[in-house]
Amino acid sequence: MTEKTTHFGFKTINEPEKQQKVGEVFHSVASKYDVMNDVMSAGLHRVWKRFAVDVSGVKAGDKVLDIAGGSGDLSKLFAKKVGQEGSVTLTDINASMLAVGRDRMIDAGLNVPAMQCNAEQLPFPDNTFDCVIVAFGLRNMTHKDIALKEMQRVLKIGGRLLVLEFSTIWQPLQKLYDVYSFKLLPFMGKLIAKDAESYQYLAESIRMHPDQETLKQMMQDAGFDKVDYHNLNAGVVALHKGYKT
Ligand code: SAM
Repeated sequence: MTEKTTHFGFKTINEPEKQQKVGEVFHSVASKYDVMNDVMSAGLHRVWKRFAVDVSGVKAGDKVLDIAGGSGDLSKLFAKKVGQEGSVTLTDINASMLAVGRDRMIDAGLNVPAMQCNAEQLPFPDNTFDCVIVAFGLRNMTHKDIALKEMQRVLKIGGRLLVLEFSTIWQPLQKLYDVYSFKLLPFMGKLIAKDAESYQYLAESIRMHPDQETLKQMMQDAGFDKVDYHNLNAGVVALHKGYKT
């Protein structure tokens, strides 16, 4: 029997290898992840994340699940929104990334539990959360359809999913963006994180990720209603939102 294949950046690999390879990327970059985000986006990732929180409709008392939450930027912002009566749970498959996030929550004095889990098999009952967010995580998952269905399952009726992710840039800017992605990004990765390869993977994985309309359809296929998206910075990033009804 031939094994199913998938993409790891531009490479075609057997499906079971993907999780391990993605794991290696994030173990390698975890300690430099936050500084690299600021440098490579010139601080813009903070604006994108704030925008996601602003359009989430999350209010005091809500229960929020941060999937692939890594170093916890979104968990931190949502914790302030939901207040003492609400809750935020930070999750990630990668122990190194999660450790950075967990320490940041403790240092900020926030009561945000950190749990290691795979988005494709969430350890939560059905109908638990008012809002689920996955920021820059979906792209790295092997079975995005299964992960999206899991996100739908754990949402309460009326709850919403936010997917913040790199997407397809406005065509006239594509050439310039390619130079930035394939020349500058790996260079910065080498300089700061001592790891050019992981940032080459980042650039490639963005190109392989479903575009705005395809992701919208995937969310609909996973059972989400009223799915729509905002392009940010000419489509460098898109924020998709959908409801469980
Ligand atoms: N959400 C954070 C942010 O926006 O800064 C971190 C994003 S980081 C680019 C991607 C994260 O996805 C990594 O921490 C990685 O470990 C996590 N990840 C990849 N595959 C995953 C999976 N199957 N389940 C849960 N997390 C996953």
